[in-house]
Order: sequence, then structure tokens, then C-alpha cells
Amino acid sequence: MIPRQEHVKRAIEIALVGSHTVTLIAQGDPGDAFALAGWLNAYQPDTARVVRPCPCGNRGSDRAVCSCSADARLAYQAQPEIVQALLADLIITVPNMMAFPDTRGEPDERVQERVAAARRRTVVEERVDPDQRPFVSTLHDSAATSLLKAAIRQLPMSGTRIRQMLAVAGSIAKLADVPQIGAAHLAEAFVYRPRWDEA
Ligand SMILES: [Zn+2]
Repeated sequence: MIPRQEHVKRAIEIALVGSHTVTLIAQGDPGDAFALAGWLNAYQPDTARVVRPCPCGNRGSDRAVCSCSADARLAYQAQPEIVQALLADLIITVPNMMAFPDTRGEPDERVQERVAAARRRTVVEERVDPDQRPFVSTLHDSAATSLLKAAIRQLPMSGTRIRQMLAVAGSIAKLADVPQIGAAHLAEAFVYRPRWDEA
């Protein structure tokens, strides 16, 4: 119904696999995001929080226009609690009118079973030394290694953020039931990094 809804559900499932921390960026009415955070926190206490993309809440929405000035938006995004919220492992934009949980489509038990199975799996530990440049990666998939190196060159990411992203990619690999992180897992993990301009 809502194009990005599947994306949100997918991200929540990944968060459950790796016990990742989550920040939901609520566009428009934050009711759906709070419902989603409540659902997630019922499974993993206090790992999810909700923030707005800007003071009016409509930044990035395709349903309403943001009325904030650029200065107001930047001042908002610089607030310590907002900066802190963006340090979560997964940053997920939740569009308004998601109608959660009525359109989730499958029972919670199925999600729980899939998550439990994924949590029992292991992926090859990735060792990336953020203090070492160029980054040395032990990613077995050469396409994944190339992608990681390219991303590190192009994106302003801290060592902590890179480690978080690899952990998220590891959870994605577990859901896919493969023993190592591949380029597709890494590419998906990149999606969940903070991106205010696109939020
Ligand atoms: Zn706004």
C-alpha cells in the first residue's frame, strides 16, 4: 500500500536479528513510527527511538511540504539528542500513513521464527581496522571488499559507523542464510545509514 512500508518491515527484521539499535525518522504524523518503536521495544527493550526529520516533521515527505527554513532545519539536526539518535545502527525513515500493524501482511510468529533461525547462524567475522588506511578488510567476497573500499573513499564515515554497517550487513547475511557478507548485503546495510538530505 505504501511503497516504503516493505523497506521498514525489512529493516525491523534485520534489527531483531542483530539486536541492533534503531532510530525511526517519522515523517508527518509520528503515530505510525511510535507504534513501530513500541512493537520493536517489546521484543528488544529500549533499542528503538523516534525523531522527526525537521521541526515541522514534513522534510522528505511526498505527502506534505516542509515549512522549515534551512537554518531552522540545520539547527534542529545539530541538537545533541538528534545527533545522538543518528548514532544508532539502523536509521529508518517511516512515512506517514503506514497503517502499521494492520498491513504487515504476516503474523508476528512468522517474523519471530525467521529471526530466531537467522540468529542461530554465524557469518565470518569481519575485521576492519578503522585506524589503518587504506582499510584492510577480510571480506571474502571480492565484490563486497571493492564496494566497502569505494564507500569508505566516498562517504564520510567514522570507524564506528563502518563497524556498525558491517554488523548490520552480517545480520542481513544471516537472514539470507549465507556464511559470509556479500556485496548485496553491504549495499543494503548502506541504506540504513543517516542521510538527512534524502530523509
Ligand atoms: Zn520541516
